[in-house]
Amino acid sequence: MPSWHCSGGSVSALFQYNYSITSKSTFPKLLNYPSKLIENAVEEISKLPGIGKKTALRMALHLLKRDEKQTLHLSEALTAMRTKTQYCRQCHNISDDTLCGICTNPKRDESVLCVVEDTRDVLAIENTSQFRGLYHVLGGIISPLEGVGPGDLNIDSLLNRIAEKQNTDAAIKEIILGLSPTMEGDTTAFYLTKRLKPLNVKITTIARGIPIGGDLEYADEITLGRSIVSRIVYE
Ligand code: ZN
Repeated sequence: MPSWHCSGGSVSALFQYNYSITSKSTFPKLLNYPSKLIENAVEEISKLPGIGKKTALRMALHLLKRDEKQTLHLSEALTAMRTKTQYCRQCHNISDDTLCGICTNPKRDESVLCVVEDTRDVLAIENTSQFRGLYHVLGGIISPLEGVGPGDLNIDSLLNRIAEKQNTDAAIKEIILGLSPTMEGDTTAFYLTKRLKPLNVKITTIARGIPIGGDLEYADEITLGRSIVSRIVYE
């Protein structure tokens, strides 16, 4: 009698297992939407980062099921965000008006500018409540691999901003380079330093080193090395 059993389970179990794998891999092709309108919504939602077709369908069905007003409010909020927000004329941060709330705040110190890559960095620094100066958002970072050059960033407007205010009461005295400690960040910082030098303004960079609460022995060699080189006087 031939045995229908092999190691790991019976032939029928093996068949079911393979069948389920095949079904899953062909899921998107087999999915029949009950409505063209839902299919369109799923198509659009699945274009968002990290959202697959299955999650998009779950979201679409949730939006369909919940109170109509709530779904319309979401749609209106997204439309308003996309059509009405703009970039601050001075610092290029995202803003509801021509000038953003930070640039128009009279309590901010306009003699210090922190140069950052994008709006997320402004938010991160603002959340520390440690910086009272103004910002300049580059709108990206120099990255030859991704085809981003200095001409694609808000660098000329930074130089003009400093030059225009020179020898006035609102003169910019210090530029803080608040860029990530990556190869692209360092390239951008190097380029900016070269362009800023003729303007005779103090250039500083955010400190790099051991995180608060971090264990020295677990720090990587580059971070620890930089911390030793850039040591500060203990107060
Ligand atoms: Zn602004």
